Formats: sequence, structure tokens, C-alpha cells
Amino acid sequence: MIICEIRNINLTFAAQLKIKRRMTNPFQLLGISDDVVNAVKDLGFETPTPIQEQSIPVLLEGTNDFVGLAQTGTGKTAAFGLPLLELIDFKVTKPQALILCPTRELCLQIANDLKNFSKNVANAHVVAVYGGANIMQQLREIRQGVQIVVATPGRMLDIIGRKAIDFTNVKYVVLDEADEMLNMGFQDDINDILSTTPDDKKTWLFSATMPAEVRRIAKNYMDNPVELTMGTKNTGNVNIEHEYYIVRARDKYAALKRIVDFNPEIFAVVFCKTKLDTQDVAEHLIKDGYNADALHGDLSQQQRDKVMQRFRERNMQLLIATDVAARGIDVNNVTHVINYSLPDEIESYTHRSGRTGRAGKTGISICIINSKELGKIRQLERIIGKQFTKAELPTGFDVCEKQLFSLVHKVHNVEVNNEQIDQYIPRIMDEFADLSKEDVIKRFASLEFNRFLDYYSKAPDLNAAVGDDRGADRGERGAGRGRGSEGYTRLFINLGSVDEFTRGDMLSFICNNGKIGGKSVGKIDLKGVFSFFEVEDDVADKVFEGFKSVEFNGRQVRIEKSGDGGRGEGAGERRGGGERRSGGFGGERRSGGGGGYRGGGDRRSSGGGSGRREGGNSGGGFRDFSGRSRDDKGGNAGGPRREGGNREGGSGERRKKW
Ligand code: AMP
Repeated sequence: MIICEIRNINLTFAAQLKIKRRMTNPFQLLGISDDVVNAVKDLGFETPTPIQEQSIPVLLEGTNDFVGLAQTGTGKTAAFGLPLLELIDFKVTKPQALILCPTRELCLQIANDLKNFSKNVANAHVVAVYGGANIMQQLREIRQGVQIVVATPGRMLDIIGRKAIDFTNVKYVVLDEADEMLNMGFQDDINDILSTTPDDKKTWLFSATMPAEVRRIAKNYMDNPVELTMGTKNTGNVNIEHEYYIVRARDKYAALKRIVDFNPEIFAVVFCKTKLDTQDVAEHLIKDGYNADALHGDLSQQQRDKVMQRFRERNMQLLIATDVAARGIDVNNVTHVINYSLPDEIESYTHRSGRTGRAGKTGISICIINSKELGKIRQLERIIGKQFTKAELPTGFDVCEKQLFSLVHKVHNVEVNNEQIDQYIPRIMDEFADLSKEDVIKRFASLEFNRFLDYYSKAPDLNAAVGDDRGADRGERGAGRGRGSEGYTRLFINLGSVDEFTRGDMLSFICNNGKIGGKSVGKIDLKGVFSFFEVEDDVADKVFEGFKSVEFNGRQVRIEKSGDGGRGEGAGERRGGGERRSGGFGGERRSGGGGGYRGGGDRRSSGGGSGRREGGNSGGGFRDFSGRSRDDKGGNAGGPRREGGNREGGSGERRKKW
């Protein structure tokens, strides 16, 4: 049920609506002009979504600050975008609206949507300003004249710092996904940016969740804002079903495959906690013949664009992503979101599941958990106010049956190109002359079925009972990388979480400075002012060498063998506990060497997974993700950046942990 609640608004538009009843298009009824209505009609928008219905008339007044609490995928962009197009004076070619959002992807999406909405509006100019792309091109576009600027905070600040933009004519500022911007540490940047805009501008804030920080922004920056709540606060999209599967940690990857196989038409985003796990899972899926690829902050912008393009065009079935990389992604008809690992922060779950069930469609959000994580499911249920269904992983037989009938339906429904196929029919009939109709059908069906049957004939039951934690000690990171403490040297480093390092940051830092690949790094144990990490014995010297004269924020970075300096965890430290990686993919039988039952290259990702990238990030710095890249914001010797992919796997200190 959708709850709509409006406060602080004098509904003067109600009378106007009556007069407008004569008009037929519901967007016109809301007060949108013909040019824009025609453009949204071309996009297939026939009726406004609930948030559009509620907010467009309010925002069209142009006189209020506004807080919209709404999930992603509800039509937020048009909810603020259409009124903006009505309020802006397009005869004046100066920035009149500024939209700030957390990621490059979202920035591009919003700019693109606005360009589409305004395609019939004369002299309308929208620019997207985001990090990691050529700043000169963006500056050029700004110089040529724009009315709407869509930006990520880091790059926006950079451009403001260059005095390349004048915001004195800005009348509207939109803070989209405000909770995410704060979680990513953009509070100060937003303050700085807003201080360059006029005091009498109107601020419209949209957020999926309403933590105290967002409330504070609303309080500090807004004057008696109109508040619109779609759904209960923090509630997930009503169109999404939530399910969980309990498996032993070592069976996670097998469980993922089984879920995918049981849903032949799946088009899903699979979330992992770290870049490393994301890459791992994607690589193993590709090797096993699935049409998958990874999206995380260690990829270059170009690689990420390519991956997203393939996913958007449905040339890829499974997008394996980190939270940060997938944030704000708007791809239609995603059938499933799969939480391969639960997020570190509870609120990330809402953002993850919001990738499916968009624009009125239904979707399923799946959590693959071990029985120890059941408490987290109960917490999620409380927070989003929805019950999760405990689902059972299908048996091998179930999967085979499902695949068989999926094939049968496909054969039945396939569009036949008579003109082309007719010429071959006589020869085909000849080939089958010795077979009965029944035999031919059996053989066609067996073509695909045999591969699944072969693989699944002895497949074990992967469902684990509550309390069954066997395998948990093998760790659950990634798809299994054959690691253990054997053969690893444990090192101390005088940097930690107080230096704003996440595990992902630390991994990049070690790889970049130690000039080693991510595969050589074992467990990373992030502490406050220091951390421990493991590297393979034979690269330990290289790492010492690489860190000889590395500084971080003016401080000499120090590496010692753990125990050498008598620090904290010495000889007696606990090893081989819950965080070891499992040796390979436990559980299910796989055919070796990149074959898998999925077999041939036809199903494979055309990008081929492109191997491991973390080692290739030369130059000792972090690769930026959505915001400031080193070239447009130089200086920092490879420390964690606020705007970008290095925060992957757990970002804000402010976030609510489990
Ligand atoms: P948003 O929440 O703005 O990211 O929108 C989510 C998705 O819904 C996008 O793919 C939009 O194109 C689509 N959408 C937005 N408004 C409508 C509408 N009124 N009718 C149909 N689709 C819509």
C-alpha cells in the first residue's frame, strides 16, 4: 500500500486542476506544457507515477522548499525534472538549476532524462558534470551556455574552484539521493557548493531513507519545506518480494548458480561486499559459461561504461557489482537482485533491492546467507517493514525440469522466419527422414537438457538448517580463491580506519605501492590507527621494498612484520579463524577448465571478464570512480577519496551497521 502524506502546503492548485479536467493527458492535468508532455509520451510515460502525481503540482508552484522521501525507481527524476522545465526561463542561457547526485552513473542518467524530457523545448541546455571524465569538455559545454547543471559534488567543486561557473542565477537546487551523498562523505562539499548559490533559491531534496543527517540538512538548508512521503519511511519498494536462502558458507557460489539456473530468464544484479569478491564471482561465473561481468571501482570509466552498456542492452544476464558502483543504476526490467553477501550497512539493502521492481514492475530481492546471519534478516524485516520468505534451493532435478520446459516454451514460441527457413526445409526433412516426430522432439529437447542433467544428476542438497554452520569456518569471501594463512606473511601497517581506509582502499594501497597483484594479498585486518594484512611469502620482500619511502598525508608509512614491533597481535594471535577463504568452490561438481555445464562460448560474456585489474592501477594512486580523478584533483598520494569507488565495501562511518 502506498501512503501519501503532504504537509505544509496550501493546495492552491486544486482549483486549477478542476479547470484543466477538460484536457486528457494526465501530465497536462498536472500542469505540464504540451512540448514536455509530448516528449514524455515518446518515452512511453502514459500516466504519472504516484510520486509524480503528488510532487509535480507542488513543485510547479516554485515557491517552496521540498523534501521527497521516495525509493529509487519510483519516477523521481521526472517528479522534479518536469517542474524544473516549466520553471526555467530558457531564453536566458545561464545556470538556473543545479542538481547534485552521488554518482557518475546517476548524474548521466538524470542529465539524459532531462535532455529527453526537454527535447522539444527551444534553447534548452543540460550539462552533466562528473569526475573521471575529461573536464575540458565539460568546461566547454558550460561556457557555451547551460540552464541545468547535473553534477557529482567533487567535480562540481573543482569547476567552482576554477571559477568556471556562475551560480548567481540559480533558482533551484535539487539534492538527489541525499542519504547516499552524505554516506559517501559529501557533506562538506555540498555545504561549499550551496554557499555559491543565492540565498533565495529553492532547495528540493530527495532521499530513499531519512537518517538524522538528512533531517539536519533539511533543517539547516530549508525553509519550512513541503514534505512528501511515498510509502513508509525506510520501506522498500512495494513491488519487491524479499527471499532468503540459508546455505553453508562454502556452498554460496553453488547456491548462486542454482538460483540462476532455476530462473532461465533471469536478468539480475548480484551484489558483493568488496571489489575483490565482485571480480572473483564474476570471473568464476564467466568461466562456468554464464553471461556475466563485474562492475566495481577498480575498472576504468571506459570499462565501466562498456559493462553497463552491455547490461542495459541485455547483452549480459548477470551484473556482479559492489554497492558503490551499482548505486543509482537505472536499468529497466531487472528481475532479481541477489545479495551474494549482505551489505555492511543496513540501509544499503534498500538501495540494492531498489535496482529491481522499478517503474511499477515487480522484482525479487534474494539474500544468500548462512544461518548465523538470520538475525540480520530479522533486522531488515523490521526496518523495511516487510516479511522475508525463507526459500528452499531447488534440487538438481527441479533445475533440470525448469530448464527443459523453458526450452520447450522457447521452441514453441520462437518467431519463424518462413521466408528464410523455407529454403532449407527440404534438406532438414531429409536429415530427419529416419526419425519419427516424437524422436525429433526428444532430440531437440535433449540438446540443452543433457548438459544440465549431466551437471545436476548428482547435485547435493545445498539447503542448510538453521544452526548448521558447517563450512562457516572456511570463510565466505568471494567464490573461493584457495587461500589460507599457510604461505602468507602477516604485516603491520601504521594506517587504519581513522585514516579513512576501508578494506578495499587498503588493498589498493598495498597493491599500488607494493607493486603486487590483489591475488597476492590475504586477509586484511583493519584496526583504528593501524592494520594488519597478509601477503604471499614470496612477495613480502617486494612489499617492504615498495613501501620504503611512501608517505600518506605527510606521514611516513611504516610496514613491519607482525610481531616484530611487539604490537598488539603477536605470536599467539588467532589464525585460521572465520575469515579464511575457502579452497575453491566447494559443494558442486564443476567441469574443469572454463567449461562448466554451461559449455560453449555462446553464453559467455563478450567482454571476457578482462581478468583481474587491481594490480594494473599503476602510479601508486587510487583509481577514482565517479568523482575526482587524480588528474582533475591531483595531490593526494593515494589516500582514500570520498567521491569514488574506493569506498566500496563499506563507506560512511555514519551508516548504521548491523
Ligand atoms: P527514476 O526513479 O526517475 O529513476 O525512474 C525509474 C524508471 O521509471 C525510469 O526508467 C523511468 O524512465 C521510468 N518512469 C518514470 N516515470 C514514469 C512514468 N510516468 N511512466 C512510465 N515510466 C516511468
